[in-house]
Amino acid sequence: MTEKSSADSLFEDIDENLKTVRFNISEAAAKSGRTEKDVRLMAVTKTVQPVYINHALRQGIDLIGENKVQELLSKLEYLEGSPEKHIIGHLQSNKVRKITGIVSMIESLDGESVANEISSRSLAAGITTDVLLEVNIGREEAKTGVMPEMLAELAAAVSSLGGIRIRGLMAVPPAGISETENRRYFAEARKMYEDLKSRYGKDVDTLSLGMSGDYVQAILEGSNLVRIGSAIFGARRY
Ligand SMILES: *Cc1c(COP(=O)(O)O)cnc(C)c1O
Repeated sequence: MTEKSSADSLFEDIDENLKTVRFNISEAAAKSGRTEKDVRLMAVTKTVQPVYINHALRQGIDLIGENKVQELLSKLEYLEGSPEKHIIGHLQSNKVRKITGIVSMIESLDGESVANEISSRSLAAGITTDVLLEVNIGREEAKTGVMPEMLAELAAAVSSLGGIRIRGLMAVPPAGISETENRRYFAEARKMYEDLKSRYGKDVDTLSLGMSGDYVQAILEGSNLVRIGSAIFGARRY
């Protein structure tokens, strides 16, 4: 018998983890009257090396998320296949140019100036960029995202721009809270999403809630996009 390399066992871990995550997604979707097809799975690949990302892509992952523009760009040439890519971290205006046309969605839009930049870069490129408005659902000072009471104003401003399309909402509840509190935040986000939808119509179809620790709760509250990193790739080592 030959000994397995540690890379092999990491590949096996990813396979196992993906099975578990997919199973949990389909159970939670069923409990909320939907099927697993109604909930999109994003693999969050920050700090993950391309060799492992490629393994996940071979297991059917077709959407990856990165927080940082530079990290995303540095990995692109090593990726096999062409997964969809979303930016999920705070985006600065001066980075917008680098990802216009490369990512299919910016999930972390939280201000008018960056929206203006996305608009002008997209118009110049002749494309429309899809965005989610990130809401600071727990009103935490240290967190990015628009405060809930400013959401309507931001949505109105963004919807008046060309080259940019509001597809929905993204939120991350405060860390270290109880399951009940967590679900309450998700339910609030869901309500804001429904408001957005009734105001801006059928383009609004994406509610991005839920990470490794809470994606089941998020799905039970109506999430249709879960962003999962460590539950697929293991704990991050920075
Ligand atoms: C890192 C990150 C995730 C994934 O976190 P895990 O807990 O590892 O699943 C999801 N969403 C955002 C915005 C993140 O920054």
